[in-house]
Amino acid sequence: MLDSPGAREDVGLMAEFTVPGAKAGAPHAASARKAPVLETLEFETPDFETPDFETPDFETEVLIAGGGMVGLTLGIALAGAGIATIVVDAADPAVLRAAAYDGRSSAIARGTQQALGALGIWPGMAAAAAPILEIRVSDGKVGSQASPFFLHYSHLELNQDWQGPLGYIVENLATRRALAVQAAGMANLTLLAPARIAALERGATAARAVLDDGRRIRARLAVGAEGKASPLRKTAGIRVTRWDYPQCGIVCTVAHEAPHAGVAHEHFLPSGPFALLPMTDAPQEAPEGGGPFGRHRSSLVWTERRALVPALMALSEVDFAAELERRFGTGLGRLRQVGGRWSYPLGLMFAERCVDARLALVGDAAHVIHPIAGQGLNLGLRDVAALAETLVDARRLGLDLGSAAVLARYQGWRRVDGALLAAATDGLNRLFSNDIGPLRLIRGLGLAAVDRAPPVKRFFMRHAMGLVGDLPRLVRGEAL
Ligand SMILES: Cc1cc2nc3c(=O)[nH]c(=O)nc-3n(C[C@H](O)[C@H](O)[C@H](O)COP(=O)(O)OP(=O)(O)OC[C@H]3O[C@@H](n4cnc5c(N)ncnc54)[C@H](O)[C@@H]3O)c2cc1C
Repeated sequence: MLDSPGAREDVGLMAEFTVPGAKAGAPHAASARKAPVLETLEFETPDFETPDFETPDFETEVLIAGGGMVGLTLGIALAGAGIATIVVDAADPAVLRAAAYDGRSSAIARGTQQALGALGIWPGMAAAAAPILEIRVSDGKVGSQASPFFLHYSHLELNQDWQGPLGYIVENLATRRALAVQAAGMANLTLLAPARIAALERGATAARAVLDDGRRIRARLAVGAEGKASPLRKTAGIRVTRWDYPQCGIVCTVAHEAPHAGVAHEHFLPSGPFALLPMTDAPQEAPEGGGPFGRHRSSLVWTERRALVPALMALSEVDFAAELERRFGTGLGRLRQVGGRWSYPLGLMFAERCVDARLALVGDAAHVIHPIAGQGLNLGLRDVAALAETLVDARRLGLDLGSAAVLARYQGWRRVDGALLAAATDGLNRLFSNDIGPLRLIRGLGLAAVDRAPPVKRFFMRHAMGLVGDLPRLVRGEAL
């Protein structure tokens, strides 16, 4: 087995994935040799040497599988820099942009916001972005007062150079819509959806893909951005470290009587963190625009033991609101759920590497982390910023965008950030999600100690803002 991208460069790697409704075919020799291939072979094995591939339906520089928030941002970044890019997404774009698809809001770190600004995407989301001015971290138990020890971050404590909000909370729906608007009509960017890559061969000079509808694409580089189950990652034989947390994240929008004043609350309970994150006020015409609760809204991310989640998801809105108040108290007045309620099983996944021959991984395809610090999307968008910069620089030097040397730069740049965040979020979740007396005391003292040490607080704040380390140009707010 060849390990390095360089060693694989001259090997034709071929993988095929299940295509519902496609014909059964004989396994290709290369894919039969490669194990494990998690999807079954059902597609008629395409002959990559046929004249069809001399005249593919699409010839492009970069082919991205997955047009979620990470994949589509990468498409926009590359196309904006003049690199011909195709994005293939399995879902119907109308479904991806529907309110029912994703009820989450995401904490967008300052560095991420600067990158989205440099790509021209931020103006389309700014109206939906609530600034995070303060973060209040506390430890407690259901139904009892929070511990007297807490940690309070304020944007006012930042040094002169970093003035401004700590970050923003934006509904994923608003981000998805802003991305779609920006992508529409961009020269150099083609979105094919709904569609999947049914077969991919990565050879010495090109990656060649066949879609499930038979269309053929030839590209210099394929990118896996299909989320945690990434078929491109699996069929490249890239191993992962992964485990499931015994927790789910319950997510919804909460209306409350008092304004949140830009404060994000992270309340650690024995079953996991309970976060209320400041959102923009609801529009006047929205159902929650009037009435006893007014227009003030926050986004709830409630981490709970998996066994309890089905019952919590089935609660009436009144009973659910009562459970919220038992956990959060009445600091924001009465609480009420608005709109739908979602639950997400939580886990950690970290790919052993994020490149292979003519293949790069970005976003959740490369790493999935606990949402305790609201960093998964930020991490994925830093992948985008680093990969886009790597490819743009390679292009300027006339290098092959899919070559091992180019991919090695990306891999070297991104590994530390991903590994550190995976370890940090895992450690925080283990430290806080329990009711062990001595640990409660230690973490209470830890919170209080950090709270009294301004330099340490500033260090943590800059990390949370995504402004630490070898920052890509986009994250610094500069053009590619
Ligand atoms: C409860 C919760 C709260 C979170 N809060 C935050 C937060 O506050 N801040 C933050 O930074 N992060 C947060 N995250 C993490 C963040 O949501 C993810 O990291 C992010 O959505 C990953 O985006 P992605 O585009 O990589 O993957 P995905 O969102 O999984 O997108 C994958 C895309 O690929 C498509 N696809 C799938 N399979 C195929 C295929 N075979 N072929 C083609 N296309 C395919 C899908 O249709 C989809 O569009 C949170 C996560 C959870 C669970």
